[in-house]
Amino acid sequence: RLYNEVQDLKGNIRVYCRIRPFLPGQSKKRTTVEYIGENGELIISNPSKQGKDSSRLFKLNKVFGPAATQEEVFLDTQPLIRSVLDGYNVCIFAYGQTGSGKTYTMSGPNMTSQEDWGVNYRALHDLFQISQNRKSSISYEVGVQMVEIYNEQSLLQLILILVLKYLYSPNLHTLGIWSTTQPNGLAVPDASMHAVTSTADVLELMHIGLMNRAVGATALNERSSRSHSVLTIHVYGMDLETGAVLRGNLHLVDLAGSERVDRSEATGERLREAQHINKSLSALGDVIFSLAQKSQHVPYRNSKLTQVLQSSLGGQAKTLMFVQLNPDVDSYSETISTLKFAERVS
Ligand code: ADP
Ligand code: MG
Repeated sequence: RLYNEVQDLKGNIRVYCRIRPFLPGQSKKRTTVEYIGENGELIISNPSKQGKDSSRLFKLNKVFGPAATQEEVFLDTQPLIRSVLDGYNVCIFAYGQTGSGKTYTMSGPNMTSQEDWGVNYRALHDLFQISQNRKSSISYEVGVQMVEIYNEQSLLQLILILVLKYLYSPNLHTLGIWSTTQPNGLAVPDASMHAVTSTADVLELMHIGLMNRAVGATALNERSSRSHSVLTIHVYGMDLETGAVLRGNLHLVDLAGSERVDRSEATGERLREAQHINKSLSALGDVIFSLAQKSQHVPYRNSKLTQVLQSSLGGQAKTLMFVQLNPDVDSYSETISTLKFAERVS
């Protein structure tokens, strides 16, 4: 095991909380965050209510406050990400209401400034660097796949195949390992493949992929809070001395907004979407809960999301959930329900 520096204190499931700052235009700046401890303690209170019972203590594996940088957040997840090179399957989720910073954590506010990069671009960059710099007999290939799950249907956006490391094997790309259905991967019908050799190439292609989606930019933005977006990084390694082969997957999942939709207000399509989101988020919670409990039966079949991720949740797989919070007092009840979800799966 080359990269697995992960200390498994609590088994294979970790829950981190990240609280976003107030945004420049946000007028009413009353926070529900009363205390952030060094060891994952978080006290949430409702400043609109007085009295002793108005504060609640939660315990997570770690809490990142509003001042935490993208770099700090990434450094904490880096060992987990690198364990993919040892053949582990890793899932990283961002959960929370719309506007709580899920996309900020996973992708960042934009991809042009490297400092702003979220977990996904940093992970790709890191895996590239390592596989290019490393002195070892293992040669790696990396494939990237983007899938969107909307109303229980999965839509393939883009598959990129990157041939990473020619250092020890200039002919590695002839191994022909890439098929549209990867073992442990997502089953998807079509693939468009592009060979790239750097993070910049990937970013450019991902950008094209995003732009090429069959919906307009506004509609896309609108819909992104109501669909799950899954970026998968497939790693295939071969030890050129022994012929041993390893496969690992990293799934980076920007989940649909967890906010409850008022049944009296939502109708038609909006209501149907909300029902699909509820169903898949609670199915995900149930799966992680059963894994944490080490149950015999894990209910993967209850949603598209848990079905496509089945082989990467459970067993030797490692899971990290970022629960995202908006600190504003107006979000108090969503904040409590997000933290209850976190409590259940940790
Ligand atoms: P979500 O994907 O959960 O709907 P976003 O990631 O789009 O939320 O975040 C909502 C807004 O808050 C965006 O304008 C985003 O740039 C900003 N934001 C979120 N997290 C942070 C953060 N940690 N620091 C600065 N701005 C943030
Ligand atoms: Mg988002």
